[in-house]
Amino acid sequence: CGVFGVVGVTDAANFVALGLHALQHRGQEAGGIVSYAPDEGFNSARRFGYVRDNFTRASLMETLPGSLAIGHVRYSTAGSKGAAIRDVQPFFGEFSMGGAAIAHNGNITNAEALRRELIDRGSIFQSSSDSECIIHLMARSLQRDIPARMEDALRRVEGAFSVVAMTRTKLIGVRDPLGVRPLVLGKVGDGWVLSSETCALDIIGAEYVREIEPGEMVVITEKGVESIRPFRPQRSRFCIFEHVYFSRPDSIIGGRSVYETRRQIGVELAREAPVDADLVCPVPDSGTPAAIGFAHESGIPYGMGIIRNQYMGRTFIEPTEQIRNMGVRLKLNVNRALIRGKRVILVDDSVVRGTTSRKIKEMILDAGAAEVHFRIASPPTSWPCFYGVDTPQREKLLAATMSEDEMRDHLGVDSLKFVSLDGLYRAVGEASGRKADCPQYCDACFSGEYPVEPSDMIEKGFQL
Ligand code: SF4
Ligand code: MG
Repeated sequence: CGVFGVVGVTDAANFVALGLHALQHRGQEAGGIVSYAPDEGFNSARRFGYVRDNFTRASLMETLPGSLAIGHVRYSTAGSKGAAIRDVQPFFGEFSMGGAAIAHNGNITNAEALRRELIDRGSIFQSSSDSECIIHLMARSLQRDIPARMEDALRRVEGAFSVVAMTRTKLIGVRDPLGVRPLVLGKVGDGWVLSSETCALDIIGAEYVREIEPGEMVVITEKGVESIRPFRPQRSRFCIFEHVYFSRPDSIIGGRSVYETRRQIGVELAREAPVDADLVCPVPDSGTPAAIGFAHESGIPYGMGIIRNQYMGRTFIEPTEQIRNMGVRLKLNVNRALIRGKRVILVDDSVVRGTTSRKIKEMILDAGAAEVHFRIASPPTSWPCFYGVDTPQREKLLAATMSEDEMRDHLGVDSLKFVSLDGLYRAVGEASGRKADCPQYCDACFSGEYPVEPSDMIEKGFQL
Protein backbone atom coordinates (compact mmCIF):
# COMPACT_ATOMS: atom_id res chain seq x y z
CA CYS A 1 0.00 0.00 0.00
CA GLY A 2 0.92 3.66 -0.20
CA VAL A 3 0.34 6.39 2.38
CA PHE A 4 0.52 10.15 2.05
CA GLY A 5 -0.38 13.16 4.19
CA VAL A 6 -0.07 16.95 4.13
CA VAL A 7 -0.51 19.74 6.68
CA GLY A 8 -0.36 23.48 6.24
CA VAL A 9 -1.39 23.97 2.63
CA THR A 10 -4.61 25.25 1.11
CA ASP A 11 -6.79 22.43 -0.27
CA ALA A 12 -4.59 19.71 1.18
CA ALA A 13 -6.76 16.96 -0.34
CA ASN A 14 -5.66 18.01 -3.83
CA PHE A 15 -2.04 17.49 -2.83
CA VAL A 16 -2.94 14.14 -1.35
CA ALA A 17 -4.70 13.07 -4.56
CA LEU A 18 -1.57 13.93 -6.54
CA GLY A 19 0.66 12.15 -4.04
CA LEU A 20 -1.50 9.04 -4.15
CA HIS A 21 -1.42 9.12 -7.94
CA ALA A 22 2.40 8.98 -7.76
CA LEU A 23 2.11 6.06 -5.30
CA GLN A 24 -0.44 4.17 -7.39
CA HIS A 25 2.07 1.39 -8.11
CA ARG A 26 1.90 0.50 -4.40
CA GLY A 27 -1.81 -0.30 -4.58
CA GLN A 28 -4.36 -0.18 -7.35
CA GLU A 29 -7.48 -1.66 -5.86
CA ALA A 30 -8.80 1.37 -4.05
CA GLY A 31 -7.93 4.72 -2.55
CA GLY A 32 -9.21 7.00 0.16
CA ILE A 33 -8.69 10.52 1.47
CA VAL A 34 -9.69 12.14 4.78
CA SER A 35 -9.47 15.89 5.28
CA TYR A 36 -10.20 18.30 8.10
CA ALA A 37 -11.32 21.91 8.04
CA PRO A 38 -12.29 23.78 11.25
CA ASP A 39 -15.74 24.83 10.05
CA GLU A 40 -16.47 21.58 8.17
CA GLY A 41 -15.02 18.94 10.47
CA PHE A 42 -13.68 15.67 9.10
CA ASN A 43 -14.68 14.54 5.63
CA SER A 44 -13.74 11.41 3.78
CA ALA A 45 -14.07 9.67 0.44
CA ARG A 46 -13.14 6.07 -0.27
CA ARG A 47 -13.38 4.63 -3.75
CA PHE A 48 -12.44 1.53 -5.72
CA GLY A 49 -10.14 1.96 -8.66
CA TYR A 50 -7.44 4.36 -9.69
CA VAL A 51 -6.83 7.70 -8.03
CA ARG A 52 -7.02 9.48 -11.39
CA ASP A 53 -10.52 8.11 -12.03
CA ASN A 54 -11.91 9.21 -8.68
CA PHE A 55 -9.97 11.94 -6.96
CA THR A 56 -9.61 14.31 -9.88
CA ARG A 57 -13.34 15.06 -10.13
CA ALA A 58 -14.05 18.55 -8.80
CA SER A 59 -17.40 17.40 -7.42
CA LEU A 60 -15.63 14.91 -5.17
CA MET A 61 -12.65 17.06 -4.25
CA GLU A 62 -14.95 19.91 -3.16
CA THR A 63 -16.24 17.61 -0.44
CA LEU A 64 -12.72 17.34 1.05
CA PRO A 65 -11.83 20.87 2.20
CA GLY A 66 -9.12 21.91 4.62
CA SER A 67 -5.42 22.39 5.09
CA LEU A 68 -4.84 18.96 6.61
CA ALA A 69 -5.45 15.66 4.80
CA ILE A 70 -4.17 12.11 4.56
CA GLY A 71 -4.72 9.32 2.05
CA HIS A 72 -4.09 5.69 1.24
CA VAL A 73 -3.88 3.50 -1.85
CA ARG A 74 -4.76 -0.07 -1.14
CA TYR A 75 -3.69 -3.45 -2.31
CA SER A 76 -4.97 -6.20 -0.13
CA THR A 77 -2.47 -8.29 1.74
CA ALA A 78 -4.52 -8.82 4.88
CA GLY A 79 -8.26 -8.88 5.22
CA SER A 80 -10.70 -9.82 2.52
CA LYS A 81 -9.57 -9.85 -1.08
CA GLY A 82 -11.56 -8.00 -3.65
CA ALA A 83 -14.55 -5.79 -3.21
CA ALA A 84 -15.39 -4.43 0.21
CA ILE A 85 -15.44 -0.66 0.54
CA ARG A 86 -15.38 -1.04 4.33
CA ASP A 87 -11.79 -2.30 4.02
CA VAL A 88 -10.64 0.82 2.19
CA GLN A 89 -8.55 3.22 4.30
CA PRO A 90 -8.05 5.72 5.92
CA PHE A 91 -9.91 4.42 8.96
CA PHE A 92 -11.51 6.94 11.28
CA GLY A 93 -12.20 6.91 15.01
CA GLU A 94 -13.91 9.37 17.32
CA PHE A 95 -12.32 9.72 20.75
CA SER A 96 -13.16 11.86 23.78
CA MET A 97 -10.53 14.38 22.68
CA GLY A 98 -11.63 14.46 19.02
CA GLY A 99 -11.41 12.41 15.87
CA ALA A 100 -8.44 10.78 14.25
CA ALA A 101 -7.87 9.08 10.90
CA ILE A 102 -5.12 6.60 10.10
CA ALA A 103 -3.63 5.10 6.97
CA HIS A 104 -1.40 2.06 7.30
CA ASN A 105 1.15 0.42 5.01
CA GLY A 106 2.46 -2.97 6.11
CA ASN A 107 1.05 -6.01 7.76
CA ILE A 108 0.36 -6.54 11.45
CA THR A 109 1.54 -10.04 12.27
CA ASN A 110 -0.47 -10.39 15.50
CA ALA A 111 -3.63 -8.75 14.16
CA GLU A 112 -5.83 -11.80 14.55
CA ALA A 113 -4.88 -12.32 18.18
CA LEU A 114 -5.44 -8.61 18.85
CA ARG A 115 -8.78 -8.66 17.06
CA ARG A 116 -10.03 -11.61 19.14
CA GLU A 117 -8.97 -9.89 22.33
CA LEU A 118 -10.52 -6.57 21.32
CA ILE A 119 -13.81 -8.15 20.25
CA ASP A 120 -13.99 -10.02 23.55
CA ARG A 121 -13.60 -6.71 25.32
CA GLY A 122 -16.36 -4.99 23.36
CA SER A 123 -14.79 -3.48 20.24
CA ILE A 124 -17.05 -3.41 17.21
CA PHE A 125 -14.98 -3.93 14.07
CA GLN A 126 -16.16 -2.36 10.83
CA SER A 127 -13.75 -4.05 8.44
CA SER A 128 -11.74 -7.20 7.96
CA SER A 129 -8.49 -5.24 7.77
CA ASP A 130 -5.61 -5.84 10.18
CA SER A 131 -5.08 -2.07 10.32
CA GLU A 132 -8.36 -1.43 12.11
CA CYS A 133 -6.87 -2.91 15.30
CA ILE A 134 -4.88 0.29 15.72
CA ILE A 135 -8.04 2.41 16.03
CA HIS A 136 -9.55 0.06 18.65
CA LEU A 137 -6.35 -0.13 20.64
CA MET A 138 -6.29 3.68 20.61
CA ALA A 139 -9.88 3.76 21.87
CA ARG A 140 -8.94 1.60 24.85
CA SER A 141 -5.88 3.65 25.80
CA LEU A 142 -6.22 5.92 28.84
CA GLN A 143 -3.80 8.55 27.51
CA ARG A 144 -5.02 12.15 27.32
CA ASP A 145 -4.03 12.97 23.76
CA ILE A 146 -4.21 11.19 20.47
CA PRO A 147 -0.49 10.87 19.70
CA ALA A 148 0.03 9.27 23.13
CA ARG A 149 -2.86 6.90 22.46
CA MET A 150 -1.24 5.98 19.16
CA GLU A 151 2.02 5.22 20.94
CA ASP A 152 0.13 2.98 23.37
CA ALA A 153 -1.65 1.22 20.52
CA LEU A 154 1.43 0.69 18.36
CA ARG A 155 3.45 -0.73 21.24
CA ARG A 156 1.02 -3.67 21.20
CA VAL A 157 1.23 -4.16 17.46
CA GLU A 158 3.78 -6.51 15.91
CA GLY A 159 4.98 -6.63 12.33
CA ALA A 160 5.41 -3.93 9.74
CA PHE A 161 3.78 -0.55 9.90
CA SER A 162 4.38 2.78 8.30
CA VAL A 163 1.45 4.85 9.49
CA VAL A 164 0.27 8.30 8.45
CA ALA A 165 -2.43 9.68 10.74
CA MET A 166 -4.17 12.97 11.49
CA THR A 167 -6.14 14.69 14.19
CA ARG A 168 -7.87 18.05 13.86
CA THR A 169 -4.55 19.85 14.15
CA LYS A 170 -1.75 17.34 13.74
CA LEU A 171 -0.24 15.20 11.04
CA ILE A 172 1.41 12.10 12.53
CA GLY A 173 3.86 9.64 11.00
CA VAL A 174 5.24 6.44 12.54
CA ARG A 175 7.54 3.65 11.39
CA ASP A 176 7.81 0.31 13.13
CA PRO A 177 11.02 -0.37 15.06
CA LEU A 178 12.52 -2.38 12.20
CA GLY A 179 11.51 0.19 9.61
CA VAL A 180 10.31 -2.53 7.24
CA ARG A 181 8.20 -0.20 5.08
CA PRO A 182 9.40 3.21 3.90
CA LEU A 183 8.16 6.65 5.02
CA VAL A 184 9.68 10.02 4.20
CA LEU A 185 9.24 13.62 5.31
CA GLY A 186 9.03 16.54 2.92
CA LYS A 187 8.39 20.26 2.95
CA VAL A 188 6.07 22.10 0.60
CA GLY A 189 5.87 25.88 1.04
CA ASP A 190 4.99 26.43 4.70
CA GLY A 191 3.51 22.95 4.94
CA TRP A 192 4.80 19.46 5.67
CA VAL A 193 4.36 16.19 3.83
CA LEU A 194 4.63 12.51 4.75
CA SER A 195 4.88 9.98 1.95
CA SER A 196 5.71 6.34 1.36
CA GLU A 197 8.20 7.34 -1.33
CA THR A 198 10.06 10.37 -2.58
CA CYS A 199 8.52 10.11 -6.08
CA ALA A 200 5.31 11.45 -4.55
CA LEU A 201 7.13 14.48 -3.13
CA ASP A 202 8.37 15.33 -6.61
CA ILE A 203 4.88 15.41 -8.10
CA ILE A 204 3.74 18.20 -5.77
CA GLY A 205 7.03 20.07 -5.90
CA ALA A 206 7.84 19.25 -2.28
CA GLU A 207 11.40 19.22 -1.06
CA TYR A 208 12.73 15.99 0.45
CA VAL A 209 13.75 16.56 4.08
CA ARG A 210 14.63 13.12 5.46
CA GLU A 211 13.33 9.63 6.14
CA ILE A 212 11.26 8.97 9.21
CA GLU A 213 13.61 6.70 11.12
CA PRO A 214 12.77 3.15 12.13
CA GLY A 215 10.97 3.32 15.49
CA GLU A 216 10.35 7.05 15.18
CA MET A 217 7.07 8.92 15.52
CA VAL A 218 6.75 12.47 14.24
CA VAL A 219 3.96 14.81 15.30
CA ILE A 220 3.67 17.70 12.88
CA THR A 221 1.74 20.93 13.28
CA GLU A 222 2.03 24.13 11.33
CA LYS A 223 4.68 25.12 13.90
CA GLY A 224 7.04 22.26 13.17
CA VAL A 225 8.03 18.65 13.63
CA GLU A 226 8.31 16.95 17.01
CA SER A 227 10.12 13.60 17.10
CA ILE A 228 9.27 10.85 19.63
CA ARG A 229 10.79 7.40 20.22
CA PRO A 230 7.98 5.16 21.49
CA PHE A 231 9.70 1.79 21.02
CA ARG A 232 12.69 -0.10 22.33
CA PRO A 233 15.49 0.49 19.80
CA GLN A 234 16.31 -2.41 17.46
CA ARG A 235 18.57 -2.93 14.49
CA SER A 236 16.58 -1.87 11.44
CA ARG A 237 15.52 -4.35 8.77
CA PHE A 238 14.20 -2.49 5.77
CA CYS A 239 12.42 -4.59 3.12
CA ILE A 240 15.03 -5.41 0.49
CA PHE A 241 12.23 -6.19 -1.99
CA GLU A 242 11.34 -2.47 -2.03
CA HIS A 243 14.66 -2.03 -3.83
CA VAL A 244 14.06 -5.00 -6.14
CA TYR A 245 10.49 -4.38 -7.18
CA PHE A 246 8.04 -2.57 -4.99
CA SER A 247 9.24 1.04 -4.97
CA ARG A 248 9.31 3.23 -8.04
CA PRO A 249 12.72 3.48 -9.72
CA ASP A 250 12.73 7.28 -9.46
CA SER A 251 12.46 7.12 -5.66
CA ILE A 252 15.42 7.55 -3.32
CA ILE A 253 15.65 5.11 -0.42
CA GLY A 254 18.27 5.42 2.29
CA GLY A 255 20.12 7.90 0.10
CA ARG A 256 20.23 5.41 -2.79
CA SER A 257 18.50 5.70 -6.12
CA VAL A 258 16.22 2.71 -6.59
CA TYR A 259 16.96 2.79 -10.31
CA GLU A 260 20.69 2.67 -9.71
CA THR A 261 20.33 -0.24 -7.27
CA ARG A 262 18.28 -2.19 -9.82
CA ARG A 263 20.78 -1.46 -12.56
CA GLN A 264 23.53 -2.69 -10.24
CA ILE A 265 21.61 -5.92 -9.57
CA GLY A 266 21.75 -6.49 -13.34
CA VAL A 267 25.51 -5.93 -13.25
CA GLU A 268 25.88 -8.50 -10.44
CA LEU A 269 23.69 -10.92 -12.36
CA ALA A 270 25.80 -10.60 -15.50
CA ARG A 271 28.93 -11.33 -13.45
CA GLU A 272 27.41 -14.28 -11.59
CA ALA A 273 25.53 -15.89 -14.47
CA PRO A 274 26.94 -14.91 -17.87
CA VAL A 275 25.57 -16.51 -21.04
CA ASP A 276 26.43 -16.26 -24.70
CA ALA A 277 23.50 -14.58 -26.49
CA ASP A 278 22.49 -11.93 -29.04
CA LEU A 279 20.05 -9.74 -27.17
CA VAL A 280 19.20 -8.65 -23.61
CA CYS A 281 15.48 -7.90 -23.17
CA PRO A 282 13.75 -6.66 -20.07
CA VAL A 283 10.37 -7.93 -19.02
CA PRO A 284 8.89 -4.43 -18.71
CA ASP A 285 8.66 -2.44 -16.61
CA SER A 286 9.90 -4.19 -13.51
CA GLY A 287 12.88 -5.85 -15.21
CA THR A 288 14.07 -2.84 -17.18
CA PRO A 289 16.77 -1.27 -14.97
CA ALA A 290 18.34 -4.69 -14.24
CA ALA A 291 18.34 -5.52 -17.98
CA ILE A 292 20.14 -2.24 -18.69
CA GLY A 293 22.78 -3.18 -16.10
CA PHE A 294 23.06 -6.73 -17.47
CA ALA A 295 23.52 -5.52 -21.05
CA HIS A 296 26.09 -2.93 -20.01
CA GLU A 297 28.14 -5.41 -18.00
CA SER A 298 27.94 -8.26 -20.54
CA GLY A 299 28.39 -6.12 -23.64
CA ILE A 300 25.39 -7.85 -25.26
CA PRO A 301 23.04 -5.41 -27.05
CA TYR A 302 19.95 -4.24 -25.20
CA GLY A 303 16.60 -4.24 -26.97
CA MET A 304 12.91 -3.94 -26.28
CA GLY A 305 11.80 -7.43 -27.28
CA ILE A 306 8.66 -7.17 -25.22
CA ILE A 307 6.37 -4.18 -25.43
CA ARG A 308 4.12 -3.27 -22.61
CA ASN A 309 0.66 -1.83 -22.98
CA GLN A 310 0.87 1.30 -20.83
CA TYR A 311 -2.81 1.18 -20.00
CA MET A 312 -2.53 -1.95 -17.87
CA GLY A 313 -1.56 -1.98 -14.23
CA ARG A 314 0.85 -4.26 -12.41
CA THR A 315 -0.26 -7.82 -13.09
CA PHE A 316 0.36 -9.38 -9.73
CA ILE A 317 -1.50 -6.73 -7.88
CA GLU A 318 -4.83 -7.95 -9.26
CA PRO A 319 -5.91 -10.18 -6.44
CA THR A 320 -7.40 -13.23 -8.17
CA GLU A 321 -5.56 -15.92 -10.11
CA GLN A 322 -7.99 -15.68 -13.03
CA ILE A 323 -7.40 -11.98 -13.63
CA ARG A 324 -3.68 -12.53 -13.24
CA ASN A 325 -3.69 -15.26 -15.87
CA MET A 326 -5.38 -13.07 -18.44
CA GLY A 327 -3.31 -10.13 -17.40
CA VAL A 328 -0.08 -11.27 -18.99
CA ARG A 329 -1.39 -11.14 -22.54
CA LEU A 330 -3.37 -7.99 -22.00
CA LYS A 331 -0.24 -6.31 -20.79
CA LEU A 332 2.74 -7.66 -22.73
CA ASN A 333 3.33 -8.39 -26.39
CA VAL A 334 6.39 -9.55 -28.32
CA ASN A 335 8.30 -7.37 -30.75
CA ARG A 336 8.61 -10.13 -33.37
CA ALA A 337 10.83 -8.29 -35.81
CA LEU A 338 13.49 -7.89 -33.15
CA ILE A 339 13.27 -11.35 -31.58
CA ARG A 340 13.24 -13.60 -34.65
CA GLY A 341 16.23 -15.92 -34.89
CA LYS A 342 17.98 -14.47 -31.86
CA ARG A 343 19.33 -16.00 -28.67
CA VAL A 344 17.48 -13.90 -26.12
CA ILE A 345 18.27 -13.16 -22.48
CA LEU A 346 15.11 -12.14 -20.64
CA VAL A 347 15.66 -10.18 -17.46
CA ASP A 348 12.87 -9.94 -14.89
CA ASP A 349 12.83 -8.83 -11.28
CA SER A 350 11.36 -11.97 -9.74
CA VAL A 351 9.71 -15.31 -10.30
CA VAL A 352 6.81 -15.82 -7.93
CA ARG A 353 4.27 -18.31 -9.20
CA GLY A 354 5.93 -18.66 -12.56
CA THR A 355 2.74 -17.86 -14.45
CA THR A 356 4.05 -14.70 -16.08
CA SER A 357 7.43 -16.18 -16.87
CA ARG A 358 5.94 -19.24 -18.57
CA LYS A 359 3.64 -17.18 -20.78
CA ILE A 360 6.42 -14.82 -21.74
CA LYS A 361 8.68 -17.71 -22.71
CA GLU A 362 5.92 -19.10 -24.96
CA MET A 363 5.39 -15.74 -26.61
CA ILE A 364 9.12 -15.33 -27.24
CA LEU A 365 9.47 -18.80 -28.76
CA ASP A 366 6.35 -18.30 -30.91
CA ALA A 367 8.03 -15.19 -32.23
CA GLY A 368 10.93 -17.29 -33.49
CA ALA A 369 13.62 -16.82 -30.85
CA ALA A 370 16.47 -19.34 -31.20
CA GLU A 371 17.09 -19.62 -27.45
CA VAL A 372 15.54 -18.16 -24.30
CA HIS A 373 17.59 -17.56 -21.16
CA PHE A 374 15.98 -16.18 -18.02
CA ARG A 375 18.01 -14.02 -15.65
CA ILE A 376 16.19 -12.97 -12.48
CA ALA A 377 17.16 -9.87 -10.49
CA SER A 378 16.33 -11.40 -7.11
CA PRO A 379 17.09 -14.71 -5.40
CA PRO A 380 14.43 -17.45 -5.63
CA THR A 381 11.28 -16.33 -3.79
CA SER A 382 10.72 -19.39 -1.62
CA TRP A 383 8.95 -17.89 1.40
CA PRO A 384 5.81 -15.80 1.71
CA CYS A 385 5.93 -12.22 2.93
CA PHE A 386 3.93 -11.44 6.06
CA TYR A 387 4.92 -7.78 6.19
CA GLY A 388 2.89 -6.17 3.45
CA VAL A 389 3.78 -7.66 0.08
CA ASP A 390 1.21 -10.01 -1.36
CA THR A 391 3.16 -13.17 -2.06
CA PRO A 392 0.94 -16.24 -2.27
CA GLN A 393 1.06 -19.05 0.25
CA ARG A 394 4.21 -21.12 0.27
CA GLU A 395 2.89 -24.04 -1.85
CA LYS A 396 2.19 -21.67 -4.75
CA LEU A 397 5.71 -20.26 -4.84
CA LEU A 398 7.59 -21.99 -7.61
CA ALA A 399 10.89 -21.81 -5.75
CA ALA A 400 9.41 -23.36 -2.61
CA THR A 401 8.73 -26.65 -4.34
CA MET A 402 11.33 -26.83 -7.11
CA SER A 403 15.09 -26.64 -7.47
CA GLU A 404 16.56 -24.17 -9.94
CA ASP A 405 16.91 -26.92 -12.58
CA GLU A 406 13.33 -28.05 -12.03
CA MET A 407 12.13 -24.48 -12.41
CA ARG A 408 14.13 -24.16 -15.64
CA ASP A 409 12.42 -27.28 -17.01
CA HIS A 410 9.01 -26.19 -15.75
CA LEU A 411 9.37 -22.84 -17.47
CA GLY A 412 10.79 -24.56 -20.54
CA VAL A 413 13.76 -22.22 -21.02
CA ASP A 414 17.31 -22.95 -22.09
CA SER A 415 18.74 -21.59 -18.86
CA LEU A 416 17.53 -19.93 -15.67
CA LYS A 417 19.66 -18.11 -13.10
CA PHE A 418 18.84 -15.94 -10.10
CA VAL A 419 21.10 -13.35 -8.55
CA SER A 420 22.55 -14.58 -5.25
CA LEU A 421 21.54 -13.04 -1.93
CA ASP A 422 25.11 -11.78 -1.56
CA GLY A 423 24.93 -10.25 -5.05
CA LEU A 424 21.70 -8.51 -4.10
CA TYR A 425 23.28 -7.11 -0.93
CA ARG A 426 26.26 -5.89 -2.92
CA ALA A 427 23.87 -4.11 -5.26
CA VAL A 428 22.24 -2.26 -2.34
CA GLY A 429 25.66 -1.15 -1.18
CA GLU A 430 26.85 -3.85 1.26
CA ALA A 431 30.32 -4.33 -0.18
CA SER A 432 30.86 -7.70 1.46
CA GLY A 433 27.45 -9.21 0.72
CA ARG A 434 24.81 -10.27 3.20
CA LYS A 435 27.07 -10.74 6.23
CA ALA A 436 25.02 -13.74 7.32
CA ASP A 437 25.19 -12.96 11.01
CA CYS A 438 23.78 -9.44 10.79
CA PRO A 439 21.70 -8.71 7.71
CA GLN A 440 20.72 -5.05 7.44
CA TYR A 441 17.55 -5.78 5.54
CA CYS A 442 14.53 -8.01 5.76
CA ASP A 443 15.08 -10.70 3.15
CA ALA A 444 12.67 -13.28 4.55
CA CYS A 445 10.99 -14.07 1.22
CA PHE A 446 14.39 -15.25 -0.03
CA SER A 447 16.02 -16.58 3.14
CA GLY A 448 13.10 -17.72 5.31
CA GLU A 449 14.59 -15.71 8.20
CA TYR A 450 11.69 -13.69 9.53
CA PRO A 451 12.83 -10.72 11.62
CA VAL A 452 9.40 -10.59 13.33
CA GLU A 453 7.76 -13.87 14.23
CA PRO A 454 4.58 -14.18 12.12
CA SER A 455 2.58 -15.28 15.15
CA ASP A 456 -0.92 -15.30 13.57
CA MET A 457 0.38 -17.50 10.74
CA ILE A 458 2.23 -19.84 13.09
CA GLU A 459 -0.98 -20.27 15.04
CA LYS A 460 -2.64 -21.27 11.78
CA GLY A 461 -0.01 -23.92 11.17
CA PHE A 462 2.62 -22.10 9.11
CA GLN A 463 6.01 -23.73 9.64
CA LEU A 464 9.20 -21.73 9.71
FE1 SF4 B 1 10.19 -7.39 1.92
FE2 SF4 B 1 10.42 -9.98 1.42
FE3 SF4 B 1 10.75 -9.04 3.91
FE4 SF4 B 1 8.36 -9.06 2.77
S1 SF4 B 1 9.57 -10.84 3.31
S2 SF4 B 1 9.26 -7.41 3.93
S3 SF4 B 1 8.87 -8.63 0.64
S4 SF4 B 1 12.03 -8.63 2.11
MG1 MG C 1 7.12 -7.65 -13.76
